[in-house]
Amino acid sequence: MTYDDTNIFAKILRGEVPCKKVFEDDSALAFHDISPQAPVHILVIPKGKYVSIADFGAKASSAEITGFYRAVSKISADLQMQDQGFRVIANVGLNGGQEVPHFHVHLLGGRKLGPMLAKAA
Ligand code: AMP
Repeated sequence: MTYDDTNIFAKILRGEVPCKKVFEDDSALAFHDISPQAPVHILVIPKGKYVSIADFGAKASSAEITGFYRAVSKISADLQMQDQGFRVIANVGLNGGQEVPHFHVHLLGGRKLGPMLAKAA
């Protein structure tokens, strides 16, 4: 899948669409999800153009990968999510229900999150 520069997170990275930023460095940007599914729901995205976690793991440099996951750890520490626990989700493609084709992880916390997956209908 080729990267689509018109996706909403690309627009946020270019400053064309606002976000509620919680963290930014050379590797990553993190902001509040516009439709939170938990009391704390943060999206962390790499600055580089990667469609999914699979694309990121295959093509990103070691520095990008390290920087991204260091950011995830720092954000979870800064937001005091680590003592009570939290969940990290990366949706990929159709089966994963991925809506935005720029790699991102969801950091979810602030309450007990229940089962990992809803029961199949
Ligand atoms: P996914 O289904 O993993 O691709 O998740 C995409 C997420 O992006 C959803 O949770 C949306 O609520 C969120 N989202 C979409 N547009 C925006 C936006 N402009 N600002 C913040 N979050 C957004």
